[in-house]
Amino acid sequence: MQHETYKVPADAKARALVNNDNYLAMYEQSVKDPDGFWREHGQRISWFSPFSKVKETSFAPGDVRIKWFEDGTLNACYNCVDRHLAERGDKTAIIWEGDDPSVSDEISYKQLHHEVSRFANGLKKLGVKKGDRVAIYMPMVPEAAYAMLACARIGAVHTVIFGGFSPNAIADRVNDCGVKVVVTADEGRRGGKTTPLKANVDEALRNGRCPSVEHVVVAKVTHGETEWDDSRDVAWDQLVKDVPAECQPEVMNAEDPLFILYTSGSTGKPKGVLHTTGGYMVWASMTHELVFDYHEDDVYWCAADVGWITGHSYIVYGPLANGATTLIFEGLPTYPGVGRIGEVVDKHSVNILYTAPTAIRALMAKGTAAAETSTRKSLRTLGSVGEPINPEAWEWYYKVIGESRCPIVDTWWQTETGGIMITPLPGATDLKPGSATRPFFGVQPALVDADGNELEGAVDGNLVIKDSWPGQARTLWGDHERFEQTYFSAYKNLYFSGDGARRDEDGYFWITGRVDDVLNVSGHRLGTAEIESVLVEHPKISEAAVVGYPHDVKGQGIYVYVSAMAGTEVSDELTKEVRDWVRKELSPIATPDFIHWTPDLPKTRSGKIMRRILRKIAANEFENLGDTSTLADPSVVDSLIENRLNK
Ligand code: ATP
Ligand code: MG
Repeated sequence: MQHETYKVPADAKARALVNNDNYLAMYEQSVKDPDGFWREHGQRISWFSPFSKVKETSFAPGDVRIKWFEDGTLNACYNCVDRHLAERGDKTAIIWEGDDPSVSDEISYKQLHHEVSRFANGLKKLGVKKGDRVAIYMPMVPEAAYAMLACARIGAVHTVIFGGFSPNAIADRVNDCGVKVVVTADEGRRGGKTTPLKANVDEALRNGRCPSVEHVVVAKVTHGETEWDDSRDVAWDQLVKDVPAECQPEVMNAEDPLFILYTSGSTGKPKGVLHTTGGYMVWASMTHELVFDYHEDDVYWCAADVGWITGHSYIVYGPLANGATTLIFEGLPTYPGVGRIGEVVDKHSVNILYTAPTAIRALMAKGTAAAETSTRKSLRTLGSVGEPINPEAWEWYYKVIGESRCPIVDTWWQTETGGIMITPLPGATDLKPGSATRPFFGVQPALVDADGNELEGAVDGNLVIKDSWPGQARTLWGDHERFEQTYFSAYKNLYFSGDGARRDEDGYFWITGRVDDVLNVSGHRLGTAEIESVLVEHPKISEAAVVGYPHDVKGQGIYVYVSAMAGTEVSDELTKEVRDWVRKELSPIATPDFIHWTPDLPKTRSGKIMRRILRKIAANEFENLGDTSTLADPSVVDSLIENRLNK
């Protein structure tokens, strides 16, 4: 189905920091002279002592080294807090919107400085030193950001564990990187329900399962009852009660670790991705400013969770490094009603909204109800991240949420890339629904075939990056070999993303999904993302996931999982209609063999569809589903198994 191209609106161009007159020249410079380019843009953050070296990187087999600005010193927390005090001390740094729509709060940069410094001193009191690991298992409350920044302030390495994870998932991560202190809350609150965070930590630590942990700090959020171990547990408010209000930020080397973050685990066991300080801060702040075209007085809202890289780079480090007002939302986009996102936008006059396709599709399933309780007139730029956004969902987001006024930046990136890599810029890029469009500055994407040969022109291939960029992950915690193996062994001297993509005649990139998800049906290569997009175009389908399964004749057959729009009656006629729809709209080769209706799809806690589980169910091999610890709702899997069609 043909979708329109949306030209850069004149007003977006007029205000933009980068526009379609200067993007190309700036991009050229960034890849032809990375040293010069990053020497200049490295100045956007504050250094205690300047760097002289810019880039020292190698993707060579057996010698993968990534260093940026390596002899400079700085502190990430200083960049996010202290350096704004003189000019923006009274400006709101954080708007906190509670799960309960009647509750919110505003924290100025001065207050942020006060809270972070005291908590940093509290951590020191517990014996936390530069280089020690601190786990943060928190709901979406300002204390989560305070804890991250406090770690950065004293040079401790944080690892944020998403507040929806189970005790086992906590224990795995805590043990993998030898955490000394866990920071948590009594309970979390989302969608009117509570999660027992402290009890989950207790469970994870029971019977000496996590021997490295010395203390657990507990913030009061709901004031719910918790067990208490006096020798180990410390209340947040007690910890900061009599500490000094000043805490000198530690002088960190550019390549000192800032944080470890475990990937969401869509494809297997989570990996402890390590980011360091200098390059990451340059990348997070620059992408935040240019991709969202952020200006000083904007109110900016990234609706992700701090437990994901998106929350690290685009709720905390990027926006705060830029002195922005960043909104932290405790709740769910559909609570108490489907209009919540728009209501929050109106309440706080949000200008920039960044969310995920999973949330967009959930709202789209309810028609236009999501837009009926708000005007959203403050919105100027919309963003999407996490999965390919189907053109249909893109159009809905553009028209219904953005009222056809706001450019959408569909941002492709990964935990490992630290920040946005392929993306439109609101004032510079004409938009094609479903395409992440073009590379950000300094990013050299390429498409290669199975043998690693670079493909030219309009073509499909494996998405690789040819040279390092400042925000790149440096290693996997304690396992540099796995780092090399995972990202640099498939294709010599290239970073392999694991994703496939198509480049069109205009040089635009279209992410087709994980390479593992590409189907080979009777010798034809089919991207699952493409079939899914056609399915979601059907007026009665809100969400779709497509996987292959072994087929005697075709090699692979096509198994389709679909969710119906609210109020749709599922019938044999509808199933037939959907099958014909795919034949007609895409190709007879893509005709589904099985169409499995389901109200829900198995998703990771970050809302990504877990296709590897769907593949197993489609293949009728559901005995060993692998690591399911990052699944949001395991019961979805049971009902899919029960109703499987390929028996
Ligand atoms: P794991 O690596 O453990 O399997 P994960 O890859 O889901 O987990 P993340 O780093 O959170 O963990 O997700 C990055 C992936 O998300 C990308 O590799 C890509 O597949 C997908 N993705 C993110 N943004 C986009 C986008 N705008 N368009 C298409 N895909 C995207
Ligand atoms: Mg990944």
